[in-house]
Amino acid sequence: MPEDVPAIELDGVVKEYLAHGETVQAVKGVSLTIGEGEFFSLLGPSGCGKTTTMRMIAGFEEPTKGLVKLLGQDVTNVPPNKRDINMVFQSYALFPHMNVWENVAFGLRRKKVAEAEIKQRVGDILEIVDLTGREKRRPREMSGGQQQRVALARALVNRPRALLLDEPLGALDLKLRQQMQTELKRIQREVGITFVYVTHDQSEALTMSDRIAVMNDGLVEQLADPREIYERPASKFVAGFIGTSNLLSGTVDAVDGDLLVVRLGEQDRILVPGQAAAGDTVDLTVRPEKITISTEQPEAGLSLVKGTVGELTYLGTYNSYAVALADGTEITVFQQNAIDSSTTAERGDTVWLSWRPQHSYTLS
Ligand code: ATP
Repeated sequence: MPEDVPAIELDGVVKEYLAHGETVQAVKGVSLTIGEGEFFSLLGPSGCGKTTTMRMIAGFEEPTKGLVKLLGQDVTNVPPNKRDINMVFQSYALFPHMNVWENVAFGLRRKKVAEAEIKQRVGDILEIVDLTGREKRRPREMSGGQQQRVALARALVNRPRALLLDEPLGALDLKLRQQMQTELKRIQREVGITFVYVTHDQSEALTMSDRIAVMNDGLVEQLADPREIYERPASKFVAGFIGTSNLLSGTVDAVDGDLLVVRLGEQDRILVPGQAAAGDTVDLTVRPEKITISTEQPEAGLSLVKGTVGELTYLGTYNSYAVALADGTEITVFQQNAIDSSTTAERGDTVWLSWRPQHSYTLS
C-alpha cells in the first residue's frame, strides 16, 4: 500500500437530524484527512458537531451526505464492527465483575485468539499503560485514572488501525487529567496507532495533538498544528476560543510593503502583515504575552498604542494588566514575573503598549 494513503478521510460530510419536526444540521460539510499514526483532535465548544463527526468515523452514524474513507476504502455504509476502529468513552464502560486482566482479554477471547497469544498481548499492553502488577484488581478498586488506562488497554489490545477517544479524561480532576495527557501522548507514540481525540478543552488539544481541527457550528474553522492554531488563529472565532486574545478593529491608514498601517485612535498605530487597501476596516489580533508594557514611549518600528492601566492581577508566574485605550477598547497584557522584574506599571498609570508587527494577524 502506498504510504501516503490517509488513515481517515472525510469528504463533504453532512449530518442532519430530525428533531421535533425540524431538521438540525449537526455537521454542515466537513472535509479532512488524518494521516496514519497521527494524534488528531477535534476541538470546539459544546454542540459544534465534534461528537457527531467522530461517530460518523466510527460508523455509529451514517452521513446524510458525503463520504467516509478508511485507508482509501469507502466505508460510508460499513457497520462499526467491520471498520477496524475502536472507541474509548468518558464512562470507561468496564465490566465491573471482571478484573483488569479479564477486562482487557475479553475482546480477544471473544475472537477466539489462542490463549498463549492473549497472554502475550494483554501482558504487553498492560505494561505500556503502566498497569503491570494490578491484573487482579477490579474496576471499583482502582482510581479514575487507572480505570481510564484499563479502558485504553482494552481498546488497544485489539490493535485497531485507529482509536477514537471522546472526551476520555472528562471525569478526572485537573491534576490527574494533566498527568494522563502526557501518558496518552506517550502511549500513542509507543503503539503508533492513529488517535482521533474529541475535546472541548483547548489546553488538552494543544498539549497532545499533532494537528487540531477547530470546529464551530458544524464546520471546521481551522485545521493546523497546535503552534499555528495558537500563534496564527485564522478567524475571530479561533482567536477567541483558543487562549486569551486581544481582538482589535481599526482603519487602514497606509500600506507599507507587506505591512498595513492601521489606526485605532489619534496616536495609536498598529503595523500588521495583511492584504487590504487604505480606508478599509480590518480586524486583527495580538496575544497578551507578545505585548510589552512600558511607562516610557518605546522605539519606532513597533506597533504602538497608548492607554491607562485598569485592573492589575498577580497570577504567580505572570501579571495580567487590563489597559484601556482612549476609544474604550481594552487590551490584556501578560508580563512574565522574572526573578529580577519589578512591576513597571500601576493602576491608573499612562502606559505604552508595543509589539512587533509579526506578532499580530489580521482576521477574517
Ligand atoms: P458536546 O461537547 O456537548 O458533546 P459536540 O460538539 O460533540 O457537543 P454534537 O453532540 O456533535 O456536538 O451535536 C451537534 C449538534 O447536533 C447539537 O446541536 C446537538 O443538539 C445536535 N444533535 C446531536 N445528536 C442529535 C440527535 N440524535 N438528534 C437531534 N439532534 C442531535
